[in-house]
Amino acid sequence: MLLLRPDCPDCGSTHIVKNSRIHNKKPKYKCQSCGCQFVENSTNKVISSETKNLIDRLLLEKISLAGIARSTGVSQKWLQDYVNNKYASIKRVVKVKPKKKLD
Ligand SMILES: [Zn+2]
Repeated sequence: MLLLRPDCPDCGSTHIVKNSRIHNKKPKYKCQSCGCQFVENSTNKVISSETKNLIDRLLLEKISLAGIARSTGVSQKWLQDYVNNKYASIKRVVKVKPKKKLD
């Protein structure tokens, strides 16, 4: 199941409700766990490890980055940076273990 709403940037909870629209048309969310309010794609957004794990799984399914960004609520720019960093680290792993076994 895909997360259609962003995680709480404060506590990482996924118990998020869409609160109301604000004047710049961006949807506003409210965390049911800690009560904080936030706007999707805010520049200070913290991506939870749960969301990163989900993104990792989606990347294995060869879903487009735009599709993953929409499904997980992260920005495409953030996702692109994340993937770039991820592939950079994978390259190092492959170099050390050239015969990676798949079971
Ligand atoms: Zn919260």
